[in-house]
Amino acid sequence: MLVFDAHLDLAWNAIDWNRDLMLPVKEIRKRELAEKDVDFKARGRGTVSFPELRRAKVGIFIATLLARLFRPNLMPAIQRYASMNSAYACAIGQMAYYQSLEKDGLLTWIRTAAELDRHIVAWETGESPEPLGFILSMEGADPVLSPHQVEEWYAAGLRIIGPAHYGVSPYAHGTGTVGGLFPQGKPLLKEMQRVGMILDVTHLSDQCFDEALDIYGGPVLASHHNCRALVPDQRQLTDEHIKKLISRGSVIGSALDAWMLTPNWVRGKTQPKDANVSMATYVDHIDRVCQLAGNAHHAAIGTDLDGGFGTEQTPHDLDTIADIQRVPELLRQRGYVEADVRNIMHGNWVRFFRAAWKR
Ligand SMILES: [Zn+2]
Repeated sequence: MLVFDAHLDLAWNAIDWNRDLMLPVKEIRKRELAEKDVDFKARGRGTVSFPELRRAKVGIFIATLLARLFRPNLMPAIQRYASMNSAYACAIGQMAYYQSLEKDGLLTWIRTAAELDRHIVAWETGESPEPLGFILSMEGADPVLSPHQVEEWYAAGLRIIGPAHYGVSPYAHGTGTVGGLFPQGKPLLKEMQRVGMILDVTHLSDQCFDEALDIYGGPVLASHHNCRALVPDQRQLTDEHIKKLISRGSVIGSALDAWMLTPNWVRGKTQPKDANVSMATYVDHIDRVCQLAGNAHHAAIGTDLDGGFGTEQTPHDLDTIADIQRVPELLRQRGYVEADVRNIMHGNWVRFFRAAWKR
């Protein structure tokens, strides 16, 4: 079954982690383990590469630009740049990575409803391998030099911005922080709405979530976000958040990062087997969104795989992203009918973008 994955940091993996995503996952792992100075825990434990995405039938995904300002005491794998100009230049470089793969015929860049429709038909009916489709998103608005630059980014092909990431961005408070939008946050959101840039609420602080939804009237999504009722941490959405998003016609992608799937996870200590976190745990989060909605029109996939973690921090019964193909059967076992399963695996995202781009 075709899968639409709403969150993959592919360019960041290719450039910052220096991973050759053209190789099979097994080969990338082998190379990293062979190198003596392993810089991060996730080295040798990656789960995503282009051959693996094809095996997973992830024919379309949201690909990110991820270039973060340095913030002390926060995840060293992610925080990097001393200035917004550096973050901007890095994001342009990441965009060039996707462009180069499009030139090679491996990827196809989806920017309009017509391109989306064409791609979905090709994947559902095509017999020869079609290119993998991507929609470009920015995780953390640090590379947007000012609200005025949103239009330039849109013209370049960017379609989604998440104003914050872990910690604070120049525009908003993000994961693990308490506070509202910074002075440039409101003009950023206004400009996003004006040019048709979609808002990703994932990683916004609770206060920023509320403020952003009040200010911004355009289409809203949550690309990789789980349920706080199941895992009590601010990184997750409360039931009230989820209901608010549903009322706005949003779609919520569930993430496969173990610390967002199961309570009391301690990064670097808890092991997936010990915490008994499995693909069924993942489906619990999808199911909760459906129960709150009263239908299966708002829950979807947003794996975040290789988003700074590997198999040390994923369900114990996941080896690579290809295991996403076990989700349809797990949903059927819980009584989901075929139309609902298809909506969760890709249909809801396709409908969301079609509507967002026809506005
Ligand atoms: Zn993220």
